[in-house]
Amino acid sequence: MLLIEHISELWERQLHDWQLLRDNYAALDGLITREMIIPVKESLQDSRVVLQYNPERLRSSSASIDDASLKARPCFLCSENQPREQETVVWDNRYKIQVNPYPIFSRHLTISAIEHTPQRINGRIADMMLIAKELPEYVVFYNGPQSGASAPDHAHFQAGLRSELPICDELFNASTSLFDANSQGIFGLITELGRPVFYIETSSIEIGENWFNTLLNALPVKTGHDEPLLNILCWHDSGSWCIAVFPRRKHRPACYGTGEDQFVISPASVDMGGLWAIAREEDFNNLTLHDVTLIYLDVCMSPQDVEIITENLRNYYYSKR
Ligand SMILES: [Zn+2]
Repeated sequence: MLLIEHISELWERQLHDWQLLRDNYAALDGLITREMIIPVKESLQDSRVVLQYNPERLRSSSASIDDASLKARPCFLCSENQPREQETVVWDNRYKIQVNPYPIFSRHLTISAIEHTPQRINGRIADMMLIAKELPEYVVFYNGPQSGASAPDHAHFQAGLRSELPICDELFNASTSLFDANSQGIFGLITELGRPVFYIETSSIEIGENWFNTLLNALPVKTGHDEPLLNILCWHDSGSWCIAVFPRRKHRPACYGTGEDQFVISPASVDMGGLWAIAREEDFNNLTLHDVTLIYLDVCMSPQDVEIITENLRNYYYSKR
């Protein structure tokens, strides 16, 4: 049986047997949303941002991820701490795929390492690609340990329905400034969507892994961190993988907080993809396109720093020709 068939059965069983899950997915249907448009110059289409008022996400957007808080709490991705209703589909004996009981997407999965091991992307991009290929309706995403992951101590991806994440339709049409290209794909940078995206599109897992690793090595790592600040989206469509990497400069925007003119917003992969799950009603009501644009600018790598990485990557591939 294919993985996607196991996952369909998992959905059926869990929605049937687990009351909390059924209630939370039913509530998602009734959530209020509103839409904003980031205008894109000379492009076929503008960039959409969908705001979703989702009070259940407060635990995630305000989660404490300092070492002391992590040590003090039982890890919610380790099987022994999970609700007894939570079922698992195992992938390659290394990952467990489960339904996320606190969804942003109408189908939202958590894909966590079976072992309790820190959140690191190094050595896992091929896993992400293979899983994305086996879950064709989904986009698989990764939040760095200091870039929105609410369990930085336990390696995990998540996945949601691709049709619900705006950027998945926009990258194909965006203009890409190339670093490298061959008959099996392209690797470049997209800047016109209001947040910088390093973009890989390829039919080869080896080439995708190679380009991704080159990018990972080119991005700066802050003192005390084990990897660059980043968010990753990965999906598979019409025989090719698309990998979108959002380089970050910080976890939370300067306007994070509960005061006046502040927002309880901690952007992660899904927000980078144009779907903002907002936990507080006043934030949902008050947020303007200007605020959204400023928050992207504030938490993403600065245009100057992106330019430096771009130059380095161009020179690297030029010297290899
Ligand atoms: Zn754990």
